[in-house]
Amino acid sequence: MNPVNLLEHDRAGLTAWCAEQGEKPFRATQLFRWVHQRGVAQFDDMTDLAKSLRERLKAQATVQALPVQSQQMSADGTIKWLFDVGAGDAVESVYIPEDDRATLCVSSQAGCAVGCRFCSTGHQGFSRNLSTGEILAQLWYAEHELRSRGAQRQGGSDRIISNVVMMGMGEPLQNYAALVPALRAMLDDHGYGLSRRRVTVSTSGVVPMMDRLAQDCPVALAVSLHAPNDELRSHLVPLNRKYPLAELMAACVRYLQHAPRDFITFEYCMLDGVNDQPEHAQQLVELIATQGPRRGDMSWCKVNLIPFNPFADSGLKRSPHGRVLQFAKALSDAGVVTTVRKTRGDDIDAACGQLAGEVRDRTGIEQRIVLQRAAQVPALNPAPAA
Ligand code: SAH
Ligand code: SF4
Repeated sequence: MNPVNLLEHDRAGLTAWCAEQGEKPFRATQLFRWVHQRGVAQFDDMTDLAKSLRERLKAQATVQALPVQSQQMSADGTIKWLFDVGAGDAVESVYIPEDDRATLCVSSQAGCAVGCRFCSTGHQGFSRNLSTGEILAQLWYAEHELRSRGAQRQGGSDRIISNVVMMGMGEPLQNYAALVPALRAMLDDHGYGLSRRRVTVSTSGVVPMMDRLAQDCPVALAVSLHAPNDELRSHLVPLNRKYPLAELMAACVRYLQHAPRDFITFEYCMLDGVNDQPEHAQQLVELIATQGPRRGDMSWCKVNLIPFNPFADSGLKRSPHGRVLQFAKALSDAGVVTTVRKTRGDDIDAACGQLAGEVRDRTGIEQRIVLQRAAQVPALNPAPAA
């Protein structure tokens, strides 16, 4: 029998596994703390476990870290790791230190099947879902590796990483079964002890899974909007054809009833001449005013404008800074809380949407996108002369 990777389980799962081994629930908690809080992978080092149990664990279990294929550090302190997940696939995680927090951006899939026009991961196609253990191994490694390097701890806690965003490679809500136990381990006081407000799932809008997340594990939600009308959104985020804006907005409003914060974050990647015009800002204001919980209420969401991070062969350009500011002002003037995201780690291709890892595309997406682009580029509005 293959040994069980303990990183594959949240605490409830580990408790069930321990019960199968004839062990009491508190043993699972002890083990969970050794693994996640202390970063210990060797059972011999788990000194408060009976020697006989340690011997059995050595035969039946492992703590399977992911091999690190490379590490890059940006001039701004951002670190990007490339983890080997086998069979020619590798995924990336990014550590982003700031003054008052440290965020880890975690991947959920090798590649992504959604195929957004402006996203490097999307252009690569899709290979496979990561397991719970592969999702958690990214946090496990980063937290304990950074501790061993003496990185700065956050707010008097003994933790380095204070926030997790599921904004790496992949669409987390298309890997729901593996995602939820990983989130639970992040939130668990015996695990990483992160608050629900500091764990964010970002989705391109998988409506039924947004409803399930609200029930199963309501963490902070970011929705990748990128366009204020269905025609443009379907072009940029193909999933919109399945779950158009009206359905997506209704799902956001439902999510709010369970969310740890009283707002949803909308992410909007600013693409030169594509979605950054004054009429797009007006349409977005209208969408927010009419689709929220109460007509005219603008306080149920925040908009985060992300300057497009270019990658090879995207065929798209970043909106000029002035246009981003104009767009932000139009939203703010209408009462929408709007921020412009600072780009971090772009010198090591670690910024949003630049994560490419290595993916053996099993879906032919890459080729489809090339064909689609050839057919559709002329349909985009050319940027007006600045
Ligand atoms: N699949 C999820 C999470 C991963 S993408 C999602 O789409 O939400 C994380 C964020 O980066 C999303 O908001 C995504 O739209 C944005 N993004 C993707 N490509 C980008 C690029 N090239 N420049 C800036 N942001 C990008
Ligand atoms: Fe997938 Fe998100 Fe990239 Fe779209 S933006 S292709 S959903 S990872």
